[in-house]
Amino acid sequence: MSSPAVSLPVPRIPRVHGRLQDIPGDRPKRVLLASPRGYCAGVDRAVVAVEKALERFGAPVYVRKQIVHNIHVVTELEAKGAIFVDEVDEVPPGAHVVFSAHGVSPAVVDAAAARGLQAIDATCPLVTKVHREAVRFARDDHEILLIGHTGHEEVEGTAGEAPDHVTIVNSPAEADTVVVRDPEKVVWLSQTTLSVDETMETVRRLRVRFPKLLDPPSDDICYATQNRQVAIKKVAADAELVIVVGSANSSNSVRLVEVALEHGARAAYRVDYADEVRQEWLEGVATVGVTSGASVPEVLVQDVLAELADAGYRDVEQVRTAEEDLMFSLPKELRQDAVGRRDERALGGRSRA
Ligand code: SF4
Repeated sequence: MSSPAVSLPVPRIPRVHGRLQDIPGDRPKRVLLASPRGYCAGVDRAVVAVEKALERFGAPVYVRKQIVHNIHVVTELEAKGAIFVDEVDEVPPGAHVVFSAHGVSPAVVDAAAARGLQAIDATCPLVTKVHREAVRFARDDHEILLIGHTGHEEVEGTAGEAPDHVTIVNSPAEADTVVVRDPEKVVWLSQTTLSVDETMETVRRLRVRFPKLLDPPSDDICYATQNRQVAIKKVAADAELVIVVGSANSSNSVRLVEVALEHGARAAYRVDYADEVRQEWLEGVATVGVTSGASVPEVLVQDVLAELADAGYRDVEQVRTAEEDLMFSLPKELRQDAVGRRDERALGGRSRA
């Protein structure tokens, strides 16, 4: 006798961007959410500086370069009345101009002053620290091998402090070929947002060639960059796919993708927004790692988590490797407003997850 027909409930097959997802066997789908991630103290301070300047002086307030390297942040500030320019000669004489978190060279400061601009310096104090190191070593006539990326605003600003003493080293391979005047008087400094591992490899190769190479007095790669890399290394070891929220011109975000791939992730991608997550990335994937660069508001991470939840990745586990509570006071031109106001930034605050 044949069995009666049974009508079974049809399981919900998750979709991303309208296409069906493969279910990765019987492995549960989950998200490993890196912590720390997102906003650092320097980015928080810089963004608040523009907002406070708009409140105090009224729109428009000009900002030289992107205040931080995140398209969402820039777009939001533009909507509030900020005008982003490439150089200070685009700013009307007498207007307020904010220098970005990445810092500026003395030549830019001088050009702003010559134009009668009212400058507000939102350079991250940890970038300023590297500037001071460059000035000090140049004063002692050391040749400075600045490990960083040619063309990055931070590198331009630091190199501009001592242009006759700085040579940029872009990669470990360049460490093998860089030419110095006096191998006995060489020091290395670095951009704040590099891969720690790659930078140490560059230094190792430099030291083979220049045994008297001096180290910076303290880490130039900042606490936020290091903490986010440590967290994503731990996540990547257990994740088949890593999604990094951050913009293409964000050095520390791009480094997070590289670090994830070097530490176990089968694939890693950077997205600005949740709708850039592609369904094919998730095919056969049980564990997705998620993190964000130091210039990324938390709201963008939450959007990605919502997208992943729609695709069945509802189980979110925090992977915390450090606590962060550093805050910087606002630029002195705005200081009567005291420190940045992370708590007000309900959706964009720094990671304390
Ligand atoms: S990433 Fe580091 S150096 Fe850059 S703004 Fe943040 S704390 Fe400052």
